[in-house]
Amino acid sequence: MMYHSTNGKAPLASLEKAVVRGLAEDRGLYMPEQIPVLPDDFYAHIQTLTFQEIACTVADALFRGDVRAKELHRIVKETLSFDCPVVPVTRSIGALELFHGPTLAFKDVGARFMARLLSYFTRASQDRRTIHVLVATSGDTGSAVANGFLGVEGVQVHVLYPKGKVSPIQESQFTTLGQNITALAVDGTFDDCQALVKNAFMDPDLERLRLTSANSINVARLLPQSFYYFHAYAQMKRLGLAEQLVICVPSGNFGNLCAALIAKRMGLPVKRFVAANNANDVFFQYLNTGAYAPRPSIPTLANAMDVGDPSNFARILELYGHDWETLTADISGCRSSDLEIRNAIADCHRQYGYLLDPHGACAFRGVYHKLAPGESAVICETAHPAKFKDIVEDAAGVRVRVPERLAAFMRGLKQSVPMGSDYASFKFYLSQLK
Ligand SMILES: *Cc1c(COP(=O)(O)O)cnc(C)c1O
Repeated sequence: MMYHSTNGKAPLASLEKAVVRGLAEDRGLYMPEQIPVLPDDFYAHIQTLTFQEIACTVADALFRGDVRAKELHRIVKETLSFDCPVVPVTRSIGALELFHGPTLAFKDVGARFMARLLSYFTRASQDRRTIHVLVATSGDTGSAVANGFLGVEGVQVHVLYPKGKVSPIQESQFTTLGQNITALAVDGTFDDCQALVKNAFMDPDLERLRLTSANSINVARLLPQSFYYFHAYAQMKRLGLAEQLVICVPSGNFGNLCAALIAKRMGLPVKRFVAANNANDVFFQYLNTGAYAPRPSIPTLANAMDVGDPSNFARILELYGHDWETLTADISGCRSSDLEIRNAIADCHRQYGYLLDPHGACAFRGVYHKLAPGESAVICETAHPAKFKDIVEDAAGVRVRVPERLAAFMRGLKQSVPMGSDYASFKFYLSQLK
């Protein structure tokens, strides 16, 4: 399968090139040339398959021909070393818990897959130069990518994060690892971090370095995120709740929602989608008005969704042929203020005994009391509530137990390199690398 750029001005790329480059030459995002449709028979029996079986079938359809089948299945199985269960919350809403991986957030799936795929391509290639992964994070990307790549040979990871704007737990997950992982504490916002990374990729002076991105723009992170939507459907089908399925995704850069939309294109029977925003409601406004007006992000309780110019917007537009009518027929929106997030955490815990994290709370609000008769919903629980312990405890009035693998990060020694938000400082840092 070949990949084209959403800007349409770059040559088609192989999977390997798309993964190593991250961004196309014309600054567009790579998309698969055709989205394969899985046979009806697969959907008829999906409820009898395990998560790994489902994921291998989806991976075969997407990556067959680009990765040897045996290796592909090994990569899929290593990536999914943990389950993504659907836990019933209300009678018609299930939480797709995407936080059972090493850093307790959904980005583990894409990051683990990408690390293994990149390592597969480096081992097969003649080029012996180190690959430098640059990743801008508003919290969870950095930890998922850093942990996904930890100890992977031939790859150095540089994590840029907005200093003082990520939670101490998130910070500990990418500043305590050492080895091939370096954290850069940027004196600025997440958007500044993302701009630094984008500039570095476009800088001809840095072409001697093998730079690649591990942000959600990378197809190796984006596409495997579709795996768990098929698995969620299978689980809902077992519960008899898959007839009119609604999927609600708490969204920041919109990679996770984009993966769900791609799953539907592959034939997954989803009735409609809800994109949940916090106060950073650029997409919500687009749905309401048809006008896309990016603006600087503002900090909220669901900080992994604090994005003012979602990078996957271009992909979503392309999927719907840039047509607002068809897009809004499939996707509706929901916006939550910090107060509404707190109330949702409290209400859901009080009424259903289920503890949401602030991101899952935005998703819960997107469907609660908003389902038509006969509809059921899967909401993505993108992070473990213990990652946002203070907020969740304060809102729900209960103690949150911290899983041991999270506590272990907190005991580590944090180390980071201070960095200005101007491109010159970052360029100087990169020019020192080999
Ligand atoms: C990254 C993240 C999101 C947003 O996901 P996108 O793919 O960027 O839309 C939501 N919740 C959590 C916990 C995250 O880490």
